Amino acid sequence: MRSYIYNLDPKKMPDAWYNILPDLPTPHAPVLHPVTHKPVVPEDLSPIFPMNLIEQEMSSERYISIPGEVMDRYLMFRPSPLRRAYRLEEALQTPAKIYYKNESVTPSGSHKINTSIPQAYFNKVEGVKSLSTETGAGQWGTALSIACAMFDMECKVYMVRVSFDQKPYRKGFMETFGATVIASPSDTTEVGRQIRAENPDTSGSLGMAISEAVEVAVKSGGSVKYALGSVLNHVCMHQTIIGEEALLQMEMADDYPDVVIGCCGGGSNFAGIAFPFVREKFNKNLDTKFIAAEPTACPTLTKGPYAYDFGDTGKLTPLIKQYTLGHNFVPPGIHAGGLRYHGVAATVAHLKKDNIIEAVALHQNPCFNASLMFAKAEGIIPAPESGHAVCTAINEALKAREAGESKTILFNLSGHGHFDITAYEAYMRGGLQDLELDDESLSKGLASIPDIQE
Ligand SMILES: *Cc1c(COP(=O)(O)O)cnc(C)c1O
Repeated sequence: MRSYIYNLDPKKMPDAWYNILPDLPTPHAPVLHPVTHKPVVPEDLSPIFPMNLIEQEMSSERYISIPGEVMDRYLMFRPSPLRRAYRLEEALQTPAKIYYKNESVTPSGSHKINTSIPQAYFNKVEGVKSLSTETGAGQWGTALSIACAMFDMECKVYMVRVSFDQKPYRKGFMETFGATVIASPSDTTEVGRQIRAENPDTSGSLGMAISEAVEVAVKSGGSVKYALGSVLNHVCMHQTIIGEEALLQMEMADDYPDVVIGCCGGGSNFAGIAFPFVREKFNKNLDTKFIAAEPTACPTLTKGPYAYDFGDTGKLTPLIKQYTLGHNFVPPGIHAGGLRYHGVAATVAHLKKDNIIEAVALHQNPCFNASLMFAKAEGIIPAPESGHAVCTAINEALKAREAGESKTILFNLSGHGHFDITAYEAYMRGGLQDLELDDESLSKGLASIPDIQE
């Protein structure tokens, strides 16, 4: 009898998040103030984040222990299962072994609740009663609305307009947990009104929605704080619970990955699955390969320069050294809304620059094709974002078949696609376009990268 699932005993649940900053092999670039261009100090961030999260953001501690109240909420759905994809392997006729960490079984349907819970909690203990945020495809807004309900807090969500229109059920889902949902750019903020005046037909972007949510926090005089669903160090760190569990589960399977794969928008789920294995690679001199999979329509890691840039369109956030397509870049409205972000987490960018991780860019049709194959074999419909990881894993498994090698592949299934069925239907009708990013929007975006003297 073969084992499909490696369920970790909750008693063996890792009790700390992993911070990769102290382990980076080369010095990391400081985050800079958006106006003075000097390294940020905690006070710079205090209008939008509580001090305990700012401390985590800037921490040089290798491990941060998970508070009991957070662990209690994690235990409602964690540890998540690690599954061996025997049936997918058979469908591919590959000698490769494929494992995936299944983050689609969380209450929010994605990995994002791994950070929304601690973010709500750390705000709550500092007396914050209300959070504002952005959401792309709706996954982050969903996760934060659930976390806010858990800790009895208010939640205001700016949702990128194209997703707001494509995914009507997301709004109702968030409202069920008491959140307020506004299509972005909106008329409720100064930055939103300005963007709309300049570009009335815009489909919106994560960069714009972030500006709106940050403005709400800044203007609240402290009663509202801002929560971000990816990119920042503390967010990537909270997600390492995925990789820490997976390490123990791979041990249970008596196996170890040759390749670790995650899809990459802002970089948090990739960081979550990959960073604990990167630590092992450093400590034990392993030659594990890491692949971040991004869309061809928003090719941050594969086509962007490594440079300082803002995290948002309105230039309200600090400057982060990252790969970026420019804070004014508006990606085409592909279905993987969660991957439509111009930049990427500083730590992920750093590891790419140092050639410790690799990146690939994929068109949406092959990703949906791979997701359909995965769904039929494994019985789970991947989120279109996760489809990029699925497709990359399948490509690696096919390479192993050609080479006749038995590779061990691990990928993160970051979420399910139950709210993305219209995208699947459009794909099955042959209705998706594989847009090659046009040079004009790319150069327009790149031109917005500020010239920072280091
Ligand atoms: C948000 C999201 C992503 C992309 O965000 P990262 O921060 O790069 O992880 C990927 N998959 C799903 C299901 C998402 O909701």
